[in-house]
Amino acid sequence: MKVSVILTSYNKPDFIDRVLRSMVEQTYQHWELLIMDDGSEQETIQKIEPFLDDERIQLYSHQIHPANRLTTVRYATLINEALTRITGELVCYLTDDTVYRKDRLEKMVDVFQSNPDIDIVYSSQRVVQVNQHSMETGSFVREAEQVLEHASFQVDHCSVMHRRRLLSLIHDQYGQYWADDPKHWHHGDSVFWKRLNHFAAFFPLKEILDITYKTPQSFHHMFSSMPYDLIDGTVIEKGGDYYQIAHGYLHRIDRRWVNGKNRRAIRVPSLCTMKYEIREMLTVPNDTVVTADYGKTFYYIEHQKKRRFASKRDVQYFQFHPNEIYTISNEQLETFEDGSIIQVSPVFSPPNRRLFKWKQDIYLLVHDTFCRIVPEVVKLFAFYHQPIKLYPSQFAFFPEGKPIVPLYMESLQEFDMSLYQTSGRKYSS
Ligand code: UDP
Ligand code: MG
Repeated sequence: MKVSVILTSYNKPDFIDRVLRSMVEQTYQHWELLIMDDGSEQETIQKIEPFLDDERIQLYSHQIHPANRLTTVRYATLINEALTRITGELVCYLTDDTVYRKDRLEKMVDVFQSNPDIDIVYSSQRVVQVNQHSMETGSFVREAEQVLEHASFQVDHCSVMHRRRLLSLIHDQYGQYWADDPKHWHHGDSVFWKRLNHFAAFFPLKEILDITYKTPQSFHHMFSSMPYDLIDGTVIEKGGDYYQIAHGYLHRIDRRWVNGKNRRAIRVPSLCTMKYEIREMLTVPNDTVVTADYGKTFYYIEHQKKRRFASKRDVQYFQFHPNEIYTISNEQLETFEDGSIIQVSPVFSPPNRRLFKWKQDIYLLVHDTFCRIVPEVVKLFAFYHQPIKLYPSQFAFFPEGKPIVPLYMESLQEFDMSLYQTSGRKYSS
């Protein structure tokens, strides 16, 4: 039986050759390897090239605009393409930070050869954490023990082999093989396992047949807690300069608008900002409290309009700290059109980008909608003020918007987690 192995690769020059070596050293030799490279730098490609002399190995190189890297789950997109090219009867998946033990294919193929009724096998895996110097800092074993009807979150990307015939069933049922919607970045494999489980169970092979390395550059690591979109008004630091996100664009701002306490700039993986075009500099950033008469009247610059606070008490009520009130000139203030007045009462008219508390949850007012926001995102985006308690009539004032949650949580909503948490094992990707 021929095995098709699909390896997704993107800039892991320190790992890729041991991954490839683990393929060519397999005791079972009837395989093909499709290397789906996602536009790696030369350093990685140079490590791949020597292996292309082996005629079982094909390299498919992709060029992708950086801004599109987050628009799909790249490894799923690449796997879907590879699945249209494979010629083997059995299929398995490999990432560029995982090595197969040398009898991995042999052991798995044996099961399929002697059990025509088994369609999917999986094996135990060693998970090794490494630091930025490639030193091992810890490890644990993800054990394969039971026949799994629900393999999501139990089994890693690289620990599975399945019969190719399941693929057409999946395609007929779901219209594609792997789901590549970006909300599945962290759990693309689990979504696919769910699809496989629709047709067959996962049969265990107790031995450890692969070792996966968790590096600080891994996607998981960089993006834990990140929502798909950066919250409007966020100030980021990028190469020593400061920018603010406004309506889907990035605008330079002067460093005077940033301070370490109340107005922090955050750092985010560069991938997260690539989808935002850079536009003109903002002389006064949005969501800034300013005064032009030394504290008699206060304005909030919001969407580049000026909204007057009805009184100083309203400034305090909405939890603005004296440190984040900036003095600007009258001429500068006059360049901004008037927006609506900010006040607590008689009409509740709050500023945007403030945190509110309603029942047990925290909400952020964004574009005049209340969006529930989870604590880890509040922390990541460096909101510092106390959430402002809402009364029922105030909560009813604005519609509710899409919750602001990390990407991984969005995808979890699609699973009935009670099916998966029984073993207490760590989630995988
Ligand atoms: N990957 C990719 N394109 C990218 C980022 C990652 O094809 O832009 C691939 C990568 O080569 C790997 C898989 O996606 O095979 C998972 O990436 P990574 O190991 O960085 O993430 P994690 O282990 O945290 O899920
Ligand atoms: Mg990885």
